[in-house]
Amino acid sequence: MSVPIVRTLAELRATVTDWHSGGFKIAVVPTMGALHKGHLSLVRAALERADRAIVTLFVNPRQFNDAADFAAYPRTEHEDAAKLSPLGAHLLYVPGAEEIYPNGFSTTISVSGVSEGLCGAFRPGHFDGVATVVAKLFLQTGADLAFFGEKDFQQLHVVRRMARDLDIPIEVIGCPTVREADGLALSSRNTRLSPTEREISSRLPQILFAAAERFAAGTSVETVLAEAKAALLKAGFRSVEYLELRAAADLAPLERPDRPARLLVAAWLGDTRLIDNVEVPAVPAG
Ligand code: AMP
Repeated sequence: MSVPIVRTLAELRATVTDWHSGGFKIAVVPTMGALHKGHLSLVRAALERADRAIVTLFVNPRQFNDAADFAAYPRTEHEDAAKLSPLGAHLLYVPGAEEIYPNGFSTTISVSGVSEGLCGAFRPGHFDGVATVVAKLFLQTGADLAFFGEKDFQQLHVVRRMARDLDIPIEVIGCPTVREADGLALSSRNTRLSPTEREISSRLPQILFAAAERFAAGTSVETVLAEAKAALLKAGFRSVEYLELRAAADLAPLERPDRPARLLVAAWLGDTRLIDNVEVPAVPAG
């Protein structure tokens, strides 16, 4: 059966009201479309935990800090719907811009703390755009559970904090990053890589995983980060925006991995910005 598509808030509300009165637990998976196996893993996780799964597709202008990037973002609704149908997703919500930002829309949700630094330092306004649209999608769907990828680890923290701070009754669940066979994290932006860049790109996760192991071996954070950065540049990355060790629980900067941590990176390969992160287990003080 093909996934039903709704485009208005009124239609969405009618469906979720029915589902809630039937006692169904509802999950939402917010996306910007151009669906790949990473997105589909979130939909599968949602279907495992909930009775009804809504996928949303909205290319949110407010989270792009570059108009050309917004214009170039792939829009493949037909293919996206075809990928969701066999999984058994229950609804695809594709709101028109006026359903999200009606005339005169004046509200911005800004999460401090976890949205500062990392991507927040290089993409001004990005997390305000994310927090605002995700708050709307949570309230519009009235979902009980929401699924996000750890691929966008800082985003996951921003969304979780926003839902907690605003008392939105939804559980935000993070799901592991899905990778290509050579380790590259799936991303709709990967299609922009030239064949040579695509080859180089696999060095990003390799270098991250190798660095994570060096922490475990007791090498200092300063040394590991400096050498990993040099390795990325040597591999052919144009620049490294950031490469940082942060606490997994709250993104606090760490000088030592004395608690469960994440190593997070953003780097430019030609004109494409790639982000990734890997787990770093706590290393007991020795
Ligand atoms: P996007 O449409 O790219 O904004 O992403 C929608 C959701 O899919 C977000 O929660 C992302 O973190 C998640 N996602 C994107 N890429 C991956 C991946 N490779 N593995 C797991 N989740 C992902």
